[in-house]
Amino acid sequence: MIRSMRLALPVALLALALPAPRSLAAGQPGPGSVTAAAATAAPSPTDLWAAWPDARFVSTPAPCLRPADLDARIEALRAKHQQGLTVEEIGRSAEGRPIRVLSLGRGPRKALAWSQMHGDEPSATPALLDLADYLLAHSDAPAVKTLLERTTLLLVPMLNPDGAERYERRNAQGIDLNRDALSLATPEGRLLEALRERFRPELGFNLHDQNRRTVVGETGRLASIALLAVAGDPEGTLTPGRQRTRRACAAIVRALEPFIPDRITRYDENWSPRAFGDNLTARGTPVVLIESGALPSGGSFEELTRLNFVALASVLLAWATDDLSGHDPALYEALPRNERDAWADVVVSGGALVVPGLPGHVRADLAFDRRAEDRALAGCASAAAARSRIVDVGDARLLGRAREIAAAGGIVVPAWTASVESLAARDWLSGEALARLGALGVRRLAWHVAPQDQAAARAAAEALVGAGRPRVDVVGPGGLSWLRLSGAPATPTGPTLAESLDALAGSSWRPAAPLTFSELLLLLTGAVASTEGFPPEAHAAPGLVPGREASFLLLRPAGDADLDPRRLRVAAVWCDGVELAAP
Ligand SMILES: [Zn+2]
Repeated sequence: MIRSMRLALPVALLALALPAPRSLAAGQPGPGSVTAAAATAAPSPTDLWAAWPDARFVSTPAPCLRPADLDARIEALRAKHQQGLTVEEIGRSAEGRPIRVLSLGRGPRKALAWSQMHGDEPSATPALLDLADYLLAHSDAPAVKTLLERTTLLLVPMLNPDGAERYERRNAQGIDLNRDALSLATPEGRLLEALRERFRPELGFNLHDQNRRTVVGETGRLASIALLAVAGDPEGTLTPGRQRTRRACAAIVRALEPFIPDRITRYDENWSPRAFGDNLTARGTPVVLIESGALPSGGSFEELTRLNFVALASVLLAWATDDLSGHDPALYEALPRNERDAWADVVVSGGALVVPGLPGHVRADLAFDRRAEDRALAGCASAAAARSRIVDVGDARLLGRAREIAAAGGIVVPAWTASVESLAARDWLSGEALARLGALGVRRLAWHVAPQDQAAARAAAEALVGAGRPRVDVVGPGGLSWLRLSGAPATPTGPTLAESLDALAGSSWRPAAPLTFSELLLLLTGAVASTEGFPPEAHAAPGLVPGREASFLLLRPAGDADLDPRRLRVAAVWCDGVELAAP
């Protein structure tokens, strides 16, 4: 109750605050409106949004833009705008890659924006070039002219090119640049600090990407953008500079809300003593943190870059025009907070979980993520490495979700471990055969070979890795699982679990003495290899727990409490987060 009250209020405030007509914002008239400030009328967020697809200077999706690609685009930008743009190499990364600042405008007031200090957080990098190009190409427009006369913009795209090359958070020295503001042990951190000391900007923008499964308050909706007017001390003192960044955040909310309604959050406000945003704010350059998160519904990575472009152009134009005086910090203050651990890609809801080795079953939802790397989603890396991860087991009603599998009346059990012997198995162990094993419920195949054959088996196994296929582990000759395969799986003669297991392993899986369903699961999942040592209570093995892969079967009993494999129908099979057509 208290928990829901806490968030209900800001959401209500937001609802009141947002419908205000955009023309109330001084300097940001809506399309077609005429105001007293018409002489400096800035392009509206809608104008910027509409212009971006044709006007953008970088067309590569942000996760696919490597340092060499960026270098080439910066050279092209310099060639295009020889008059208005200065490009200066301010130094080199730990591995010697150039880091550049682009500067435009000739005014005394300065703003500094840097992106991708975490190498795997790329969304804003193309936007900085798009922004420079757009402003210089529209330098005759009154509002842009004002911006370029009154201010100087300093843009550092991709502060961590070594991390970007590997698509990793940290730099080549293994250091998180955003925890290096005090030590200044990294060349990249020192470059950023030196830039601030040299220009003393009155406004900073620190551009990141956050976990793409961060949720807006308790709404269950994914957040596409999170904002923070960074504090300059542990108390969060409201200095004039921080008042400015709060107005800047409000301007960004107003600019982006039409395109991502109710998908903007306020980032966690904890003082972070080693971070650059906090320290630059303390040293006199108040910083706005922009975190790009979930792809807007149905969108792509380009949409995150587009949002950054619209946000930065809008806020900088408003800053140059009247120091953001028309923007009420309340709009920012009312934003719902980021919520973590409140989302799962898939929720299997309402089913009964049977834990191998434990009697009976437990009513529990199963929630998991299907993890695909940004580069794979953007089309510039193989998707084979996508893995799943169970987020929660139990009551998942508070989790937001992209997909729900209704499992009421069904039984959810962990998938199988099987053994196969000898190097000769490579004659039939193809990708196609593995996919069929996966569809029959196998999540792990132990391939038992003699020591002298293990290198060859490993090479063969490595070539078989793929999404939706069981993992193949090459092991020694001993310690076989209960479930043993002698060749490629047959086609099941029917939809039941017994028929599915027959197709896998012939009759070898059928126990000599009657077993309970839970005991049978102990054997099939590989928790125990034989019935010796039963009763099995000491072996209870919950295969489905947070952190592990999501490999499981959804079974449908013919009648209440009927767990006979001859009558349990295999309704769905998931192998490491990938749904496979049930046999
Ligand atoms: Zn970051």
